[in-house]
Amino acid sequence: MTMQEQYQRLEDTVRAYNPGANFSQIRAAFDFAEDAHRGQMRKDGSPFVTHPLAVAQILAEELHLDSESIAAALLHDTIEDTVATHADIARLFSPTVADLVEGVSKLTRVHYTSKEEEQMENLRKMLMAMAKDIRVILIKIADRLHNMRTMEYQTPEKQKQKSFETMEIYAPIAHRLGMQKMKWELEDLSLKYLDPVGYGEITEALEQKSAAYGDFIASVRQQIAERLAEAGISCTVYGRTKHPYSIYRKMYTQNKSLDDVFDLFAFRVIVDTLADCYNVLGIIHDLYHPILGRFKDYIGTPKPNMYQSLHTTVVGQTGIPFEVQIRTREMHEVAEYGIAAHWKYKQNGQGTGDEKSYEWVRRLLENQEGADAEDYIHSLKVDMFADEVFVFTPRGDVINLPAGATPIDFAYTIHSAVGNHMVAAKVNGRIVQFDYTLQSGDVVEVETSQSAHGPSRDWIKIARSNNARSKIRQWFKKERRDENIVNGRASFESELKRCGVTLKELTAEDMLPQVLKKLCYNSLEDMYASIGYGGVTALKLVGRLREEINHILRRRQGYIAGKDTAAPVKTASQPSQRQTHGEQGIIVEGLTGCLVKFAKCCSPVPGDEIVGFITRGYGVSVHRADCPNAAAERHSEADAGRWIRVSWAEKTNESYHTTLEVVAKDRMGLIMDVSTALSTTKTQVSSLNARTTPDGFALVTLNISVPDSEQLQAVMRKLGQISGVLNVMRPTG
Ligand code: MN
Repeated sequence: MTMQEQYQRLEDTVRAYNPGANFSQIRAAFDFAEDAHRGQMRKDGSPFVTHPLAVAQILAEELHLDSESIAAALLHDTIEDTVATHADIARLFSPTVADLVEGVSKLTRVHYTSKEEEQMENLRKMLMAMAKDIRVILIKIADRLHNMRTMEYQTPEKQKQKSFETMEIYAPIAHRLGMQKMKWELEDLSLKYLDPVGYGEITEALEQKSAAYGDFIASVRQQIAERLAEAGISCTVYGRTKHPYSIYRKMYTQNKSLDDVFDLFAFRVIVDTLADCYNVLGIIHDLYHPILGRFKDYIGTPKPNMYQSLHTTVVGQTGIPFEVQIRTREMHEVAEYGIAAHWKYKQNGQGTGDEKSYEWVRRLLENQEGADAEDYIHSLKVDMFADEVFVFTPRGDVINLPAGATPIDFAYTIHSAVGNHMVAAKVNGRIVQFDYTLQSGDVVEVETSQSAHGPSRDWIKIARSNNARSKIRQWFKKERRDENIVNGRASFESELKRCGVTLKELTAEDMLPQVLKKLCYNSLEDMYASIGYGGVTALKLVGRLREEINHILRRRQGYIAGKDTAAPVKTASQPSQRQTHGEQGIIVEGLTGCLVKFAKCCSPVPGDEIVGFITRGYGVSVHRADCPNAAAERHSEADAGRWIRVSWAEKTNESYHTTLEVVAKDRMGLIMDVSTALSTTKTQVSSLNARTTPDGFALVTLNISVPDSEQLQAVMRKLGQISGVLNVMRPTG
């Protein structure tokens, strides 16, 4: 056939279903493509334009598409492979044609790899194109079909790669769009390259037995046709062997030889009316022996791709099982061409797109929002590439779920609150496990309880739908807020403890508003949650509450022995109480001449606020008031009475031992600078220890003697000025 003859055939094909087509536009598209691709060759040596011509032919023949789609098919490789631009095509043809071509080019530019992540992105783009204009995907599928038909001229590597892609992406999309005929061909062609041996075995065997099979098919066809004619039902009966990939899959999944494959044959009865479908079913079941559990009513509950049909498998007199599909002519159109059969795009300038028919595409896309990449590919495989199950609510509503779905999926499809409160599930009136695999036709009932514990983490694994999984995750995310609050509260509390105050004191009614205001939180819960999340450290927040903490500590000073004493003990600031002398400069309330020692944990010096603890056997131990040991022990009921008021005498000792810790960026000469600082402040040093951390910091511990806190502050300031020093502190606890 010459190219002109091929083109003429295309026009004839279009004219047959659409006499009012825009033939001048189609002709112009062909001329433009021929011109643009001039000099380009296909791998088989033919002019490149034969390819877009063949793609247009497929769309016309198989899908009866509109003029713009046919024109776009003819032009589909011009933007990608020639100098033509979107603007050129928009100007010469129409903006819609240009958009379609651009859309197909975008899909062509997508390169699939075996990496799921990237595949996901590509699939997403592809789906976006679908949602925008489904004709783009139809042209792309026809493009792929023609490329698969002519794949023999490609390298083995390319054959495998394209076939894998076709099997994984294009065939399933064709299936989801309801285009069974194209799906089968795509699958068979892919199988041919993916498993040439397996494919060869099946096709050869089918060929060998074609005569015998042919006889069988003819006889069954005749039987059915005659019997239906007797019943006065007008119909068309088709018979065929199932397509190679469908047989291959059965052999593979059931580990059977070709002879053992259960049903090799499929018959189709096309009738005029819906009532006839059920009449025919009765007659078929009367004529042959129906196999239990193989009857499916896709008329009552259509597949989401709009497929409608009655399916039954029966065994004839010969003992050979075969499937019979019964449907009306209209249902048949949808079955063969799916979405394209519903195509009501402006043909002959009338009619509009049948938006509602592919609402599911949009639904699929909407469900992906917010899901992460891993989930997306998974959900596409489940939601898009697998079959569905149909189950009933107790009220009789049909719920569509991915194959393998469980009561968990069902519950979350009804409502997230139903899922979160589910305590039991019943299928057909009987209690089932949550991982029960739902079957089409099951009546599913979910029992909920207000006191339900909520989902368990296992549910994420059990659930098959992305919808259920993401809702369960959401629940845990919310739940984790509670965990965060608990953790945040714990670290805030322990940080406060280090400062010597309790959470109760800080969050007392008279303190709380000021605390929240200072820290800029609306509630304590919010604050705890943000600590728990790691958004802010407890240390930082407590650091900002220095004033409030000191206030609490000061206020408490007067009530330290409060548990045992009816009247509050007078505060340290009352000069009348001050004694001039004391053991080691310490005055112990109500006691004279008792043994006094300074706690090693916080080594107080004159000027520090202090408290005393009556030890068992060694007099009074003096702590700094902000020492966590003092704070902790004060909480203990048993020791409550052992804390006593102590204060500094007017005359104190010459010097007191204390400890400083210096944190600095480690560098040459750091220790030298530290000792210089100590000597210039005339500080007595009893030991100096330095160690470095693996991340390059130096921790210097100094044991020094100072007369009072004023002098100590001066030393600390001096040390703080040393280059590289980050922090100078008095250790406690
Ligand atoms: Mn192409």
